[in-house]
Amino acid sequence: MGRLRAKSDYEDLRNARIAENQARMLSLGLEKSASDLRAITTPIKTVRKYKKSVYSYTSLRRSDRLKGKSPDQIKSLEEKVRSVEPARKRLFSLARSEERRPANAPLLSVHPSKLQLSPDVLSRRCDSKSRGSVYDPVLGICCHFCRQKKLCGEEDCKRCGDRDVDQPCIGKTDCSVCHSTNGVLCRACLKVRYGEEMDEVRENKEWMCPHCIEEKGINPYWICNSSFCLRKRKIAPTGIAIYEAREKGYESVAHLVMDQLKRAAGHG
Ligand SMILES: [Zn+2]
Ligand SMILES: [Zn+2]
Ligand SMILES: [Zn+2]
Ligand SMILES: [Zn+2]
Repeated sequence: MGRLRAKSDYEDLRNARIAENQARMLSLGLEKSASDLRAITTPIKTVRKYKKSVYSYTSLRRSDRLKGKSPDQIKSLEEKVRSVEPARKRLFSLARSEERRPANAPLLSVHPSKLQLSPDVLSRRCDSKSRGSVYDPVLGICCHFCRQKKLCGEEDCKRCGDRDVDQPCIGKTDCSVCHSTNGVLCRACLKVRYGEEMDEVRENKEWMCPHCIEEKGINPYWICNSSFCLRKRKIAPTGIAIYEAREKGYESVAHLVMDQLKRAAGHG
């Protein structure tokens, strides 16, 4: 008896709360999101802890939570959920893909018309394999070193050649550890600044950017020599140091800097 009483108290309370919430929502016009909707259909006994799984979207369950509502009410609630669903899904897939996607294939949402290039421009794309020759603010991936948002000059890059936003640019590196913009280098910078070949890096599924190599302590004094990163360490940027490096017989600027740092630390 006591339990029954408690149960119906609970139901009363819950119904009151649902009604109150609904009135509030309706007075606001429309529910802003499906989560609001879920809130009003969530039993109050549920202790709703903060959940980090904000990215997962579960469709509204038709359950006895909706008992007591007329079919019309249910229908209109469902319609509201449906109306916000695409937007929510887009938002969540955006957040999800941004987590997963490497920096040489960032998520883009662009109008197809923005993706078209004249055949003439496209034909120039592979003129320079080292840095690329066509600047493209939409599809071009910015090199961490030269900061040029260019299409790559690789013949078979689906992103730059076929204008496919979902493909990575194969003419820019992707760090297997951080997948961040720190690890995005064009063919020319990769070679000149770090002495590495694009084709080898692309094959190497475990390739790491200088930032990650340093962070993991893999190769002492092997550091990123982009002017921005050097300035952060209060080291003078090595703009055209490649000539100096080559003259002195170093493979790349990073090799030169590594040696200088070693000497400075007294290991030379
Ligand atoms: Zn570059
Ligand atoms: Zn490319
Ligand atoms: Zn990295
Ligand atoms: Zn850097």
